[in-house]
Amino acid sequence: MQYVSTRGRAPALDFEGVTLAGLANDGGLYVPAEWPQFSEADIRDMRGLDYPDLAARIIAPFVAGSLTEDELTTICHAVYGDFGHAAVAPLVQMDQQHWLLELFHGPTLAFKDVALQLLGHLFELFLERRDARLTIVGATSGDTGSAAIHAVAGGTRAEIFMLHPKGRVSEVQRRQMTTVRAPNVHNLAIDGSFDDAQAHVKRMFNDADVTTTLNLGAVNSINWARLMAQVVYYFASALQLGAPDRKVAYSVPTGNFGDVFAGYVAARMGLPIERLIVATNINDILHRALSAGDYSAGGVTATLTPSMDIQVSSNFERLLFDGCGRDGAAMAAQMHAFEASKVMQLTNAQREAASTLFTSARADQTETARAMQWAFRQAGQVIDPHTGVGLHAAQAVAAAGGVAPDVPLVTLATAHPAKFNDAVERAIGMRPSLPARVGDLFGREESFTELAGDYAASRDYVLSHAAASGAS
Ligand SMILES: *Cc1c(COP(=O)(O)O)cnc(C)c1O
Repeated sequence: MQYVSTRGRAPALDFEGVTLAGLANDGGLYVPAEWPQFSEADIRDMRGLDYPDLAARIIAPFVAGSLTEDELTTICHAVYGDFGHAAVAPLVQMDQQHWLLELFHGPTLAFKDVALQLLGHLFELFLERRDARLTIVGATSGDTGSAAIHAVAGGTRAEIFMLHPKGRVSEVQRRQMTTVRAPNVHNLAIDGSFDDAQAHVKRMFNDADVTTTLNLGAVNSINWARLMAQVVYYFASALQLGAPDRKVAYSVPTGNFGDVFAGYVAARMGLPIERLIVATNINDILHRALSAGDYSAGGVTATLTPSMDIQVSSNFERLLFDGCGRDGAAMAAQMHAFEASKVMQLTNAQREAASTLFTSARADQTETARAMQWAFRQAGQVIDPHTGVGLHAAQAVAAAGGVAPDVPLVTLATAHPAKFNDAVERAIGMRPSLPARVGDLFGREESFTELAGDYAASRDYVLSHAAASGAS
């Protein structure tokens, strides 16, 4: 499989190339040159496969030429044989129509593990093959950092430097990063905000002092391999609910548009998806884009759902690219104008393409809390606030007739409630406890380095502590 950039100028790469590259060098995002297709018979034939074997079946066309069938099967079993639930992504029924898809059974209790655990294994395999090393530098406000650290800890070819704003991530989130003791993991608590940390990371990628000595890698959701891994659980859940003979709808708590874009990919591959609901909090650029064509970045307001507090949604570009007939030059012009003005109108073609599958809805804090209370009282389910946003959107769209009552509507449960236990306690009066497998989180010793807030402090630390030295 070859991959092309949404901005049309970067060289086409194979799967190994896009996994290690992350962003395309023309500023665009890599997408497969065409969407692999599964027929109804192919999908019927997937019934009864366990999660690792299903993952290998779905992923195979995307990695053709870069992984052998054996390598792929081995990796899928290594990654998904080790989750906290045998089903990896179990479905839970809430009422006649509504279901939850639990994606939080990985090591750090959020759906990001499903993809990052796979990415960690892919890095090791591809770097081994190239006899190369990779220095991953990232900034986190919580979930991505811990999932990425758990994914690469103990590896021999990749090392990770994760910057977090000191004192501004929750204790659970911090401990999930700082209690991982491995020589290739470096936690840096910087004296500044998440935006400062993010700015330092971006600057390192453009700093010749860094890039000439280190082979830098990124783990954010612009990496195609992450989205690919997320396609699998749409197939897994739809199969259980009757696919391909019955359509299923999904509501997806959305920030960077990665998770819901994976649902779009599943639909393009032939999975009969009735509707994808893009659920946003009050940082609703995507809701405005999908409902009115207005994609304009505003400021970010902090909410109970920090992983969805975004100003722009990087992966939305992948949808817009399909919506303009995959015209890379037009896409580059549209995105450059947006980057300059922070304002963008979707074209009619893009709006039409999006509306065939997507509906959007937003939830404020009251609506989110109400959805969490409904789940607890009516369905006996304790859900985290991100999932609460998704459930509110699912109920609102169903009530407005946007999804017919006989279509199963699955809300993606993106984080374990214990990860956000203060917000959960405030909403339902009960404090969820951490699952036993991470239960000693508060007993384990932490390790992190505190750094001043300026760029040089972070850069110098990375340069002097990196084991890798541009071996590629
Ligand atoms: C990252 C995250 C999201 C948003 O997912 P995107 O792929 O960025 O849209 C939602 N909920 C939780 C708990 C997350 O960690």
